[in-house]
Amino acid sequence: MNTPLPGYEEAAALVADHAAQLGRILPTLERVELERASGRILAQPLAADRDQPPFARSTRDGFACRAAEASTHRPLALVGAARAGDAPSGPLPPASVWEIMTGAPVPTGADAVMMIEHVETSGGAESRGAVAGKVRLLPPRSVEPGENIVAQGAQAREGDQLLEAGTVLQFGQIALAASCGYAALHVFRRPRVAILTTGDELAAVDAIPRPGQIRNSNAPMLAALVAAAGGEPWILPTAADNAPALDALLAPAATADLLLVSGGVSAGKFDLVEPALARLGARFHFTGVRIQPGKPTVFGELPRGAGSPSPTLPFFGLPGNPISSAVTFLLFAAPVLAALAGRRQSAPRFALARLAPPVDRHGKPGLTRFLPALCDFGSPAGQPPQVALVPWHGSGDLEAMARSNCFLVVPEEAHSLEPGDLVRILLS
Ligand code: AMP
Ligand code: MG
Repeated sequence: MNTPLPGYEEAAALVADHAAQLGRILPTLERVELERASGRILAQPLAADRDQPPFARSTRDGFACRAAEASTHRPLALVGAARAGDAPSGPLPPASVWEIMTGAPVPTGADAVMMIEHVETSGGAESRGAVAGKVRLLPPRSVEPGENIVAQGAQAREGDQLLEAGTVLQFGQIALAASCGYAALHVFRRPRVAILTTGDELAAVDAIPRPGQIRNSNAPMLAALVAAAGGEPWILPTAADNAPALDALLAPAATADLLLVSGGVSAGKFDLVEPALARLGARFHFTGVRIQPGKPTVFGELPRGAGSPSPTLPFFGLPGNPISSAVTFLLFAAPVLAALAGRRQSAPRFALARLAPPVDRHGKPGLTRFLPALCDFGSPAGQPPQVALVPWHGSGDLEAMARSNCFLVVPEEAHSLEPGDLVRILLS
């Protein structure tokens, strides 16, 4: 190809465009119990079945009162007690208070809760649960109307839509669904992702490699990345570096929702993946990106047979070196997978961090680089996280990748990053 390769931003924009189109065809639904819904994509809107909180709720242990009366510092009569789980009580008579526990309904007539630490009690009110005696707000404290109370419906009104389809269900969303009475949820079926690793040099993980062979680490690595990104990995047998082997294994992959081919996309004599995809009628969106590692990455779509719900099968050809495969999966394949999975947000995740030594000055100009790095997210409050490069021996260095937890982004135009610079990191 003589056309210039896109840079990272251009390739990412292309991927985002195609992902948006591919994401228009939503996956079918399935129903899962709430306890099994973590990490799944919500396929229905989630609505509040009642006001939240369902009653005016005390946020403190103390005494429900009228703020104006309490702020006079006159002793007020203790006339009742409300515990969490009690039905809403009241009305509160004039010049009186009601003992109240965190989470209990505030009696009608009360408009504030004095904290137990801020009052003095007498005449029996000292003992918890007593409903006789006096309670006085200690000067100089005062209490404002609404203090220590969350009003009924302050968080949500009955019928409000709280989550939209396409939301990733994590602990917060699951707690919310539980509070609204959803014991099970409709979620999108996970996209099935075919993983085809190629290479004459590859031995199975459980085989003893012959001289010159290496173990196939990309198949389980990509399966882990796919699962983490919400897909269902489908590992195909490894393809040898010849056209008939590739053709035979690409054919059944056509039933997948996304196809990942690892290896065989460089310009070498045995890099036969692009021609094999072309034989199946591939439309290529790009056949390389100005990044390192991962320059030979290929992205495109294969036509599907008539009657298929989605007209094309998106595919990626990922360079076989493990760090190249991982980086290009995170940058390009993960957003497409997210869109196919029905997710609303699907861009790769980046963060800012402060660069610690050592720095790397070996970059080729004109390429955005993604270098294995270790980010310490435990920086003191107000400080960005600290990131340091992990020393590595190139994109085949599995040991370096296993010691890293992110990739440091060296922009195309940045010839020297210095310790202390604020830099971008790609998160997995
Ligand atoms: P390729 O992209 O096919 O030229 O592969 C580049 C290099 O990545 C090869 O020389 C292998 O060392 C390595 N490689 C390719 N496929 C795999 C794999 N499935 N697992 C581990 N390493 C691989
Ligand atoms: Mg190869």
